[in-house]
Amino acid sequence: MIIIMKDSASALQIEAVEKRLADFGFNTHPIVGEKKTVIGAIGDKRLLSMNEVLLMPGVENVVPIMKPYKLASKELQKEQSIIDVGYGVTVGGNQLAVFAGPCAIESQEQFTSVSRSVKASGANILRGGAFKPRSSPYSFQGLEGDGLKIMYNSGKELGMPICTEVLDTRDVELVASYADIMQIGARNMQNFKLLREVGKCNKPILLKRGLASTMEEWLMAAEYIMSEGNENVILCERGIRTYETSTRNTFDISAIPVSKELSHLPIIADPSHATGSYKYVAPVAKAAIAAGADGLMIEVHNCPEKAASDGEQSLKPHKFDTLMKELDPIAKAVGKKLL
Ligand code: PEP
Ligand code: MN
Repeated sequence: MIIIMKDSASALQIEAVEKRLADFGFNTHPIVGEKKTVIGAIGDKRLLSMNEVLLMPGVENVVPIMKPYKLASKELQKEQSIIDVGYGVTVGGNQLAVFAGPCAIESQEQFTSVSRSVKASGANILRGGAFKPRSSPYSFQGLEGDGLKIMYNSGKELGMPICTEVLDTRDVELVASYADIMQIGARNMQNFKLLREVGKCNKPILLKRGLASTMEEWLMAAEYIMSEGNENVILCERGIRTYETSTRNTFDISAIPVSKELSHLPIIADPSHATGSYKYVAPVAKAAIAAGADGLMIEVHNCPEKAASDGEQSLKPHKFDTLMKELDPIAKAVGKKLL
């Protein structure tokens, strides 16, 4: 339920409401506005009736949260969340977040070269996989711990936050010790144990949409993370499975406005995994920004022909640079900043 306190409610009255809710096992999330305080309370409504809360001093109104996801819902928080990902970079504000880098970290030379070039083009977050979720057990699985160190060095050198995937609950502590943002991949979107585990960390989480997940399932996955105390979740639309075979997945452009209506969480778009082809990355990236995305995730490789994974969808650094320049006026047209 959402408890709306009166403008005149005192700090003591707010505290008393929170205490009452906590006594009945509710988790409370106060949102302090300029005039009003609103308290989100997640718990079993059978234990404490809304009416009882309504009668407490200082309470103006009590409304139920109708959606199955609560903390992720726009019902609870109307303002867009802005997530601080370190090094002065935020996701969800006017400045667009551009995550760029190779699919997989292959060597220090490769990662240094790609990360320096994407930074020069205006990217503000580095991406790269150290643990790779490959369809085949015989494909390159990532450099694991060594990959994390390589990425960490580049992040430090360039003063940029790094985002990398965590595949397994057993690696969460290790990945969290290097990464500024931990990525939950599409294949793990409903790995509930992993979601809970990253929910216990204080690192922002990039939550990719599952290969065949509805918006509601996706937001419920975000709720798993948030219900453990980590409210810093960034959604990432990366395409879903449809009958279409000319692209790797089908980019769901409407996921962007729909998520904005349902949730306060920022959403970025990944045209690389959505399309599977470098040729389609730029037009889909532009469409996503025009549709209101808070940023992009783009795979860039210095030598895509030789990439250990996803070379066919990776942009060469000069193509990424051109794309950033072409995106700039589109960003401005929707009231955002890119470069
Ligand atoms: C990736 O970002 O490299 C990746 C594997 O993404 P997804 O989980 O969207 O397939
Ligand atoms: Mn990839």
